[in-house]
Amino acid sequence: MATTPDTSVGARAKYEPVIGLEVHVQLLTASKIFCSCSTRFGDAPNTNVCPVCLGLPGALPVLNRKAVDFAVLAAMALNCEIRETSIFARKNYFYPDLPKGYQISQYDKPLAEHGWIEVKTPEGMKKIGITRVHLEEDAGKSLHEGFAEAADKTAIDLNRTGVPLIEIVSEPDIASPDEAYDYLTKLKEIILYTGVSDCNMEEGSLRCDANISVRPRGQKEFGTKTEVKNVNSFRFIREALEYEIERQIGVIESGGKISQETRLYNADEGKTYGMRSKEQAHDYRYFPEPDLLPLVVDEKWQAEIRRMLPELPEARRQRMVGDYGITEKDVVALTATKALADQFEAAAKAAKNPKRVANLVQSELVGRLRAKGLEIEQSPVSMKGVAMSADLVESGAISGKMLKDFYDLSFERGKDFPVVYEEEGRPEQSRDTSSLEKIIDEIVVANPKQVEQYRAGKKTMIGFFVGQVMKASKGQANPQLVNELLGKKLDG
Ligand SMILES: [Zn+2]
Repeated sequence: MATTPDTSVGARAKYEPVIGLEVHVQLLTASKIFCSCSTRFGDAPNTNVCPVCLGLPGALPVLNRKAVDFAVLAAMALNCEIRETSIFARKNYFYPDLPKGYQISQYDKPLAEHGWIEVKTPEGMKKIGITRVHLEEDAGKSLHEGFAEAADKTAIDLNRTGVPLIEIVSEPDIASPDEAYDYLTKLKEIILYTGVSDCNMEEGSLRCDANISVRPRGQKEFGTKTEVKNVNSFRFIREALEYEIERQIGVIESGGKISQETRLYNADEGKTYGMRSKEQAHDYRYFPEPDLLPLVVDEKWQAEIRRMLPELPEARRQRMVGDYGITEKDVVALTATKALADQFEAAAKAAKNPKRVANLVQSELVGRLRAKGLEIEQSPVSMKGVAMSADLVESGAISGKMLKDFYDLSFERGKDFPVVYEEEGRPEQSRDTSSLEKIIDEIVVANPKQVEQYRAGKKTMIGFFVGQVMKASKGQANPQLVNELLGKKLDG
């Protein structure tokens, strides 16, 4: 948890936070953005390099078409307008992991602009603007451990140099750490749906920097911002922002000034620390990259990419609520990943009664998962298993009670429903009418008043009798059969 500096609630209420996020997403191309070196993660250091990504004199970059496809697809999914002609630019700075002495990025003419992501706030849905989405190359990596002389040396791995990235820059529209968390969750989900990145934060495929300032409520001008860098989970970003808001208010309230700087978040302590004062944009001496032509993504190419756009999470959720009669809350769980939603839909469509599949997920799966602290992707019962169980209930082969028992066994044994059903010898509920008829006879005799009401035309009374029979059979009877036999008895 973030340990927040002691700022009074009153002081907190006087200020509002202004947050903007910069997210770097690594694109899932097989080769780098300007050369044919592999982008594979985890290879031995400095094995995926060539004169281009090492920045050797005379080597010329050649743009990877796939990286453009992916970047445009992501930008479209984020509701951006695609700029037909965008320009690559050199961002000049010195850093040991940047052999060229500059990074090829985009500056004043980025690939895409004016997008948005919608997030839920206590006041309703809110659009967070996306200023720009641009293409750039990644830098290398400094290694401080994992090699022989690590105690007093730093090593450089240039495998990552030249890996394609998109940078997604938000407008300063985010007004709370919760909104920032929601924005990032939505962004990641959308990118995952497009399939252009695996968004794996541990491997650095998704990285986030946050710009944060506070200002007195009602003031138009922004306060001085700080940038929190290299936070490796969305939860930590939320915590770092919470801390930074309190810290900045504390500084201002005690008469101090916020200095514009980069700060690092220490998750163990829940605090941010000043790292270095922030370079201004002009320090980078951006200029158009002379070795690359302007990038032209014309209407025809844009149309080709647009056809690759999948149904996006929000639209899919709305459709699924209608198609399967599930609640808004549960549909969120079912669409947590595209793979899971695909599995669910395939299972539901294959089942005799799709709504029953959705109902079973809610009534039998969600609660058991919660009790075990499992995510739905880790469920021992797969969506296929849910569909099979739904069909068995639908056909009357097993009762609701038996189904519950099988789900319990599945969770105990960590095995899927079909496996457990097989292990238990594919039991079916009794269709033995003689013992059921005996129960029915007894119940009819014991409830003359209800029989009279039924025969006088109150047909809904049947529910009462079904309930009594199910209870007497300890839930083992086949409800369809009970209905059938009761009808005969009472009407006959
Ligand atoms: Zn290379």
